[in-house]
Amino acid sequence: MENLKALSKNSNKLYKKFLRCLCFALLFSCSPKTNEVSLKGNSLPIVTNEFKFWVWTTANAEASDNDFDDEFLNYSKNGIDAILVNTNADPELLTRLVPIAKKHNLELHGWMFTVNRPNDSIAEKHPEWYAVSRDGKSCFDQPPYVDYYKWMCPTRDASRNHILSLVEGLAKVEGVASVHLDYIRYSDIFLPIGLLPKYDLVQNEEQPEFDFCYCEVCSTEFEKLHHKNPRDFDNPAIDMEWKNFRLNKVKAIVDDAYTIAHKNNKKLTAAVFPYPEMADHMVRQRWDKWQIDAVLPMIYNNFYNEEIDWIGYATRQGVTDLKEKNTELHTGIYVPPMSPIELKEAIDQVKTNGAVGVSFFDGNAITQEQWLIIKNYTR
Ligand SMILES: [Zn+2]
Repeated sequence: MENLKALSKNSNKLYKKFLRCLCFALLFSCSPKTNEVSLKGNSLPIVTNEFKFWVWTTANAEASDNDFDDEFLNYSKNGIDAILVNTNADPELLTRLVPIAKKHNLELHGWMFTVNRPNDSIAEKHPEWYAVSRDGKSCFDQPPYVDYYKWMCPTRDASRNHILSLVEGLAKVEGVASVHLDYIRYSDIFLPIGLLPKYDLVQNEEQPEFDFCYCEVCSTEFEKLHHKNPRDFDNPAIDMEWKNFRLNKVKAIVDDAYTIAHKNNKKLTAAVFPYPEMADHMVRQRWDKWQIDAVLPMIYNNFYNEEIDWIGYATRQGVTDLKEKNTELHTGIYVPPMSPIELKEAIDQVKTNGAVGVSFFDGNAITQEQWLIIKNYTR
């Protein structure tokens, strides 16, 4: 009796130990996206979401398949799950990358410049498609800040349809996970504070040369709706209908792009400003109201003279705003100025504040020391 009791007690202990180990293994398991564990015939699905690692990278059409193979191998061996590749909205180049990404087990996303369309030979044939500032300058020949700021008018049918045709081109590429919209906004009415000295600028209020779009079509459509013309405003910054009109113009492009992507069995993702109120204030982008599968807010603390914990603050803000929505949030971080320790802290901030992944900008700029942090990070 005594012996039997001892044995039973012992086996109970062993069983408990086994369960504890199992829980530990499940908590810290990082490979599959979903773990379904069946215990003694009872179906007990335990779902653990992987914390996803992404990089943004630009593909040079002149590069060989071997060059891409080397680059993608480097991502894969360092723990990257997904790559967002800028092909200048070229579906053929994106198609070339599909088998190479697949070989290295990388999820491939087609990253495109959306409303800002530099070097767009089709758009260049239509000067009227370009956004016009409050002081009457067109992005066609007098772009704000930098010469690659070639913003389209988001209201005109022809410029919108052109943008959406590019979305469709990428969405039709077999083997691509999502179409990834970048520059899906207006030109910056306020630049990030850390960039102002670089352009020798002071921006204490909305300035006419950075305020868009005051073209004939936008002004007329707005006036029809609201019986006032934005060209006549003394202080357009305080007219909420005018602000909202523009937020909705960006949203309308995103929502149409979502329909196109989903018609082609693809997701829609976007690179956005740090959190919705900030995006609204700086670039007229209110991404918490969009129809979209995932957003990757570019929480580049160094651009805003902020510290690493601000990455956590902004991440938490966006995650909270998306609570009721079916939109994932993966935080984008700007890696070049970060020491390996700061990079580790940045990823911790992203993870503990509720994002489901982190994207590094950009793939080619990551140093060996930084790769070690990424590769060895416990997810
Ligand atoms: Zn316009």
